[in-house]
Amino acid sequence: MTKEYDLVIIGGGAAGFSAMVKFSEAGAGKVALVNDGLLGGTCVNVGCVPSKRLIQIAKRINLLKRILENNFDKVNPYTITAIFEDIRKLKEGMRKTKYEDVIEYYDVDLYVGKGVFTGEGELKIKNKDDEIIIKGRKYLIATGSSPIIPSIEGMDEVNYYTSNTIWDINDDFNSILIIGAGAIGLEFAQALNRIGINTYLVEVLDRVITSTEPELSSMLIERLRNEGVNIYLKSRVSKVEKFDNKIKVSVIGHYGKKEIVVDKILVATGRRPNTSNLGLENIGVDIDDRGRIIVDKHLKTTNPNVYAAGDVSGSPKPAILETISAREGATAALNIIEGDKYVIDNSYVPVTVFTDPELSFVGMKESDVIKNYGGCKCRLVTFKSLAKSGIIDEDDGAAKIVVDPNTGIIKGVHIYAPNSSDYIAEAALMLKHKYKIEDILDTPTIFPSAAEIIKLAAQAFIRNIGRMPCCVE
Ligand SMILES: Cc1cc2nc3c(=O)[nH]c(=O)nc-3n(C[C@H](O)[C@H](O)[C@H](O)COP(=O)(O)OP(=O)(O)OC[C@H]3O[C@@H](n4cnc5c(N)ncnc54)[C@H](O)[C@@H]3O)c2cc1C
Repeated sequence: MTKEYDLVIIGGGAAGFSAMVKFSEAGAGKVALVNDGLLGGTCVNVGCVPSKRLIQIAKRINLLKRILENNFDKVNPYTITAIFEDIRKLKEGMRKTKYEDVIEYYDVDLYVGKGVFTGEGELKIKNKDDEIIIKGRKYLIATGSSPIIPSIEGMDEVNYYTSNTIWDINDDFNSILIIGAGAIGLEFAQALNRIGINTYLVEVLDRVITSTEPELSSMLIERLRNEGVNIYLKSRVSKVEKFDNKIKVSVIGHYGKKEIVVDKILVATGRRPNTSNLGLENIGVDIDDRGRIIVDKHLKTTNPNVYAAGDVSGSPKPAILETISAREGATAALNIIEGDKYVIDNSYVPVTVFTDPELSFVGMKESDVIKNYGGCKCRLVTFKSLAKSGIIDEDDGAAKIVVDPNTGIIKGVHIYAPNSSDYIAEAALMLKHKYKIEDILDTPTIFPSAAEIIKLAAQAFIRNIGRMPCCVE
């Protein structure tokens, strides 16, 4: 007999787990979690956790390099395999404590395998050993996303890595070319270059991270170039081919055609939602032209018994993030329990690109504010203006606040500065609660801290900050 559940969740990543916790905490009924692959999904296995560990290791190596100057030779390639081994250990440990152990606390049936909807509104779960059919009163699709592989001549003939597979590297290499300078491409480019790998980064656009202010993203590109990353903007990889044991990459730009020979290539050209082969057509769940599941403001799909959350959902979001996925998973679960009461406002979601310095932002850019409100009041200050800059020996960085000139309400905060991921959520609160510049001025901050850059940018609205002592109210 087909086993029936109050909620069947397909996907055991951030969105799926968050929904499972919320539904179980509410005692709302019997839950099944269906997951294909490693529990925890992208973030812990191949995304946030391993990439941030790599960045942390690279940051320490870079510090050593700066201190030892000429006495520092490139990191021995053998160290690179040790670094990847360390990363694998971390993510395995975290997968166990944060997902495999956690699921034991909840009264949930876990099915391992790939879920496919049948014409009868049931879910067939296939793994290599058997096939099971279960049925849900409601379903939540939280199947995440996967790397997009661009159609480039020769791509099928060479071994390429993606952010999913790079963690399996266990051989030494000296050079890499990264296709795509989004957050993932930029983070890998700086970190791999810092651990001693000759790194090339190719991007088709003429600028990176278009959701933030161009001044800040340009500073980041300049920083990476100064650190030795070979960056080609407004350039396109036209062909890849085997070349002895290496890969020859043809890159086309305003300079004509360049041929770059590297040990490895990493494809970082974005991610597509995991909606194919799910049998969505069998249950009347529609997808948009980018393959994302169409949802309403309650995360309900075109089938009223099916919800979608996380990377796979087509809800408007500034980026695909672990935090948004978890929030959507929990919200969808609440809507299933209480009947479509909750709506997520993604207009104040903070985003960080974890380079060093980190590029963080929330809300609108100056150009958006001008378009929406007919003008903008903005101030940009450099990190160098802060005492903290001298103390931690970091000159690079800036912050910009953008304000609606009609109401004085802050509409966006953009920070390229050390550890800005640790304080950009302060700015998210400002946007959520419609703060004005006076609210920042009227709130004490910490001296000396990098976070003080927000207060300095606010002070720039009322005085010449070039005439300020370390600290003034
Ligand atoms: C390199 C990298 C770095 C990142 N860094 C950050 C960061 O620093 N901060 C941040 O907030 N976000 C970061 N992200 C994004 C973040 O990892 C994702 O947004 C988030 O993990 C998505 O969660 P999810 O639950 O939607 O999907 P996932 O975590 O991908 O989970 C989906 C699960 O569903 C399973 N599945 C798929 N199809 C089926 C099926 N048919 N049946 C059963 N199971 C199925 C998958 O195997 C997977 O286990 C990063 C991503 C990458 C790739």
